[in-house]
Amino acid sequence: MIQAKKRVYLFEEGNKDMRDLLGGKGANLAEMTRIGLPVPPGFTITTEACREYLATGRLPEGLMDEVKEKMKVLEEKTGRKFGDPKNPLLVSVRSGAKFSMPGMMDTVLNLGLNDETVRGLAELTGDERFAYDAYRRFLSIFSDVVLSNLFTRPDGEKPNLDRSRFEEILERKKEERGAKYDIELSAEDLKEICEEYKKLIESELGRPFPEDPWEQLRLAIEAVFRSWNNKRAVDYRNFYGIPHDLGTAVNIQTMVFGNMGEDSGTGVAFTRNVATGEKEIYGEYLVNAQGEDVVAGIRTPMKISELKKRDPEIYKQFERVCEILERHYRDVQDIEFTVERGKLYILQCRAGKRTAKAAVKIAVDMAKEGLISKEEAIARVEPQQITQLLVPRFDPQEKEKAIREGRLLARGVNASPGAASGIAVFDADKAEELGRAGKRVILVRPETTPDDVHGMLASKGILTQRGGMTSHAAVVARGLGLPCVVGCEEIKVDVERRLFEVNGKIVREFDEISIDGDTGEVFAGAIPTLEPKLEEERELSELLRWADEIRRLGVWANADYPRDARRAVEFGAEGIGLCRTEHMFMETDRLPWVQKMIMAQTPEERKEALDHLLPLQRGDFEGIFEVMEGRPVVIRLIDPPLHEFLPNYDELLAEIFELREKARESEEAGRELSEKEKILSVVRSLKEANPMMGLRGCRLGILYPEIIEMQTRAIIEAACEVKRRGKPVRVKIMIPLVSHVNELRWIRERLESVARKVMEEQGMEVDYSFGTMIETPRAALTASEIAKVADFFSFGTNDLTQMVFGFSRDDAEGKVIMPYTKMGILEKNPFQTLDVEGVGRLVEEATRAGKAANPNLEVGICGEHGGDPESIRFFHKAGLDYVSCSPFRVPAARLAAAQAALAAGVEDRTK
Ligand code: ADP
Ligand code: MG
Ligand code: MG
Repeated sequence: MIQAKKRVYLFEEGNKDMRDLLGGKGANLAEMTRIGLPVPPGFTITTEACREYLATGRLPEGLMDEVKEKMKVLEEKTGRKFGDPKNPLLVSVRSGAKFSMPGMMDTVLNLGLNDETVRGLAELTGDERFAYDAYRRFLSIFSDVVLSNLFTRPDGEKPNLDRSRFEEILERKKEERGAKYDIELSAEDLKEICEEYKKLIESELGRPFPEDPWEQLRLAIEAVFRSWNNKRAVDYRNFYGIPHDLGTAVNIQTMVFGNMGEDSGTGVAFTRNVATGEKEIYGEYLVNAQGEDVVAGIRTPMKISELKKRDPEIYKQFERVCEILERHYRDVQDIEFTVERGKLYILQCRAGKRTAKAAVKIAVDMAKEGLISKEEAIARVEPQQITQLLVPRFDPQEKEKAIREGRLLARGVNASPGAASGIAVFDADKAEELGRAGKRVILVRPETTPDDVHGMLASKGILTQRGGMTSHAAVVARGLGLPCVVGCEEIKVDVERRLFEVNGKIVREFDEISIDGDTGEVFAGAIPTLEPKLEEERELSELLRWADEIRRLGVWANADYPRDARRAVEFGAEGIGLCRTEHMFMETDRLPWVQKMIMAQTPEERKEALDHLLPLQRGDFEGIFEVMEGRPVVIRLIDPPLHEFLPNYDELLAEIFELREKARESEEAGRELSEKEKILSVVRSLKEANPMMGLRGCRLGILYPEIIEMQTRAIIEAACEVKRRGKPVRVKIMIPLVSHVNELRWIRERLESVARKVMEEQGMEVDYSFGTMIETPRAALTASEIAKVADFFSFGTNDLTQMVFGFSRDDAEGKVIMPYTKMGILEKNPFQTLDVEGVGRLVEEATRAGKAANPNLEVGICGEHGGDPESIRFFHKAGLDYVSCSPFRVPAARLAAAQAALAAGVEDRTK
């Protein structure tokens, strides 16, 4: 005989590892029962039964028999009987999926009540008022959650049995009686309310309220099963990427009553403060109330700390349970509990959600308490989370001042921490353009969509009129570590007119505004910010020190300016993995000379321009070498195509058309015109169909060697100067976009002789080396050849991804990759998380081949991926020596590198 499948588990039959089958809530109720905590007896119907129900539309055969059997056990344990008019057993019916989905479906309490059992309950408790209050609650919840979802009205319409209809009746009664709170209503009042409730139900359903407790139970089970597919639940799963085929379990549990008087109550608490991480029980308690009252905010609950004063006995019991649960689960617990006439019951526990700050403190504290190991502490903190702890904040005094000056415009939802000032810009394209040109932009939108991401990336902060904590803007901003205020309904964004209105004031495009992502405040004008200090974040510093002991990968930073380099060092960077020299060319005092250099007609003209640039570049490098104090600095020679330093072709053309008109009347305009025409002819001559694949990188260096010779001279002179001041210098000169070893050989020979010459002139030696970026597929494929001429490799995974996929870095994300990820063609944006199978394969192969050909070869990565935790895990496995990322991502990268080492260790051990 085939053993029938078990679909119902008593709490004592399960455990915490059975989440798949029993759901999170059921598994934890089972675990708590198993370890002897005071959990009201109950059982769980499996998610498997739910899946069967959803597939067939019927309850699995024999399920209700199994349920009856288990109900019998509950009856034995409690000494009560389901449906017994003298001594009724009442239960709650609670949903609970594998992953917590708050608010997916409401819990039904007090199930089993009807006109007879309510009297039994009154007698049993000696409290008639209490019994009818429970009945009233049951009627309304059961109608809202169960009946309205399972039945249609006689006219075929959906019944309107929303909770609000019952609330109306209750409110009317309270008014009649002049009562402010529910507790002021008498038993008689409540009895009348129950009658009215039942009338409402019958009129909506065309059938009386189901008085049979067994029918109630069956209907409630079905309703919970079906709730898996309600819109709220489906949306929630879509948002959090939870699979749709898991189904929910159903927990049926003996009721305990927190509404039995002053020595009863119900509460929710965390075993530690999940906002700050402090080791203190943190939560709320409501006297004489049942579960849903706390959430519904009917009365203001008291802080748990007050319970300690009010009822030290109960508090002590609860404190003990917190301790047991934390030790058992070795993590902070989020606990729901109820006190019935002085006796404590635990109704739920799960891992407590916490802020970034709390996550770090709790992990470090628990490791110090010996509850978890250092390794576990490291594994428990999300690298992205800690980035949020290190964002700039407004200088408090300056913010005060702004408030005094009446510049506080509005307040929205504080969606992503940090503070930012910048010019208001109303569309993503312009935000991107201005952001890339170095302007501080705050992107202001009614709300954002994936089409806006490119603009968000280039902005310093995001402000939206609509949306909440989980809106697109909020989620993306948190991911990027950008300050963000959403749902700021006070502002009326008018994208067409490029302004927003707020309480009679108007803020136009390019006006300065400031947003505080910690408080949701929006200000007119700029407010100075304070940079965060890692050493002031005690626990975080400690956690990162532990991470440093464990990680193998080095963590370096991409920094172009001394200020960024200093920040990077403070955050723990061990070197500069990428210093881009072209940013230096863009500064306003230099750009004219850079343009002169590009426009030069003769080598002499070009030399003159370069001679002007040389001391400026030397100064830049000196600054960085000073800050880095002998840590390695990788300086990349000029990379972008020259036209990027010249005015835009189309704009120039438009200007020339205008000037042609004016030139007829004014001589000055005529002069300007001929100047612009000269520029135009250069811009035209540099114009390429595919600039990204054109004259740039080392190709530029080979065809215009004067530029990189000047740069090399500036680098070596700066190194000598700083060394002369007594500070060590270690510089690595990096050649971009090499695809053939001959390119590198040609450049290296030439620059080597410049370097030697400069050192001779200066009469000293400095520590320098030459290496290359690996950012074309050919370079990766011929890594063993290239490695013979290079001292180091640095993977430029942005360009490499572009060329391996053939995706334009500038356009593809919005136009192709977003739709692709939505359609499931690509799982992730490969510019954010390294494409392991394709790009990663080249990285792995080139690293192996390069190191085989040149055992001293140092290998790093300096693309965006250097700061992405998932990619870091791959780089660890691929055998790279270091990752390099933006300074603000350095702490996260240190943690991610440690996690990568731990994960790899686990993999090795399980092999
Ligand atoms: P959610 O998943 O929305 O938190 P729960 O199933 O945890 O829903 O139920 C919500 C609340 O209902 C609980 O926190 C508790 O206060 C109350 N509750 C549930 N079951 C019982 C019970 N058996 N006795 C008393 N109260 C209960
Ligand atoms: Mg709950
Ligand atoms: Mg590149």
